[in-house]
Amino acid sequence: MIGSQFKDIISRLSRLPGLGPRSARRLVLFLLKNRQNILLPLIDSLKAIHENIKTCSICHNLDIEDPCFVCVDHKKSETILCIVADVSDIWAIERSQTFKGRYHVLGGLLSVSEGIAPSQLNIESLLNRISHMQNSLQEIIIALNATIEGQTTLHVIVNAIHEKFTDHNFNITTLAQGLPIGGELDYLDDGTLWTAFSRRHNLNAA
Ligand SMILES: [Zn+2]
Repeated sequence: MIGSQFKDIISRLSRLPGLGPRSARRLVLFLLKNRQNILLPLIDSLKAIHENIKTCSICHNLDIEDPCFVCVDHKKSETILCIVADVSDIWAIERSQTFKGRYHVLGGLLSVSEGIAPSQLNIESLLNRISHMQNSLQEIIIALNATIEGQTTLHVIVNAIHEKFTDHNFNITTLAQGLPIGGELDYLDDGTLWTAFSRRHNLNAA
């Protein structure tokens, strides 16, 4: 029989993304068996996050400082702005070490089923930011999920930028779609294969 306090922790943990009741039970048991070396440091880390985490007033990233580590990094170029849906997208792009510009976090994607409207995303602050960066800005990369919600949000943002900046000098780009690295044609879904065909590269100039 599991005690009520354990049931409460398991029920809270099982609501976290990627965890169900079974994995939550295993996690709690693991933490209980490793109280000193894992549970206590984890409690301290979570407490520190809870007390110190801030939303960056410039890009809406999460950090313990405002402005965040990206916004104060002088090695990041002021000429490129990458628009992402969530903070986890910044983490993913930073892990790839391919992008050396600034970010703007929308705070989600437009969704009819979840009732997320344009006013709930950080679009107004994005437009204000573009206004401030306009003289140095060369490119805006819209890096959103290749889902219906991601592509709908992309169109709304592109329209909003074109509406506000009628004769801008920066390019607006989006991420390429198609064959994944290591992907085999036979295993691709129809949509990915279709996109890979329609966005094929010319090899003549190689
Ligand atoms: Zn920031």
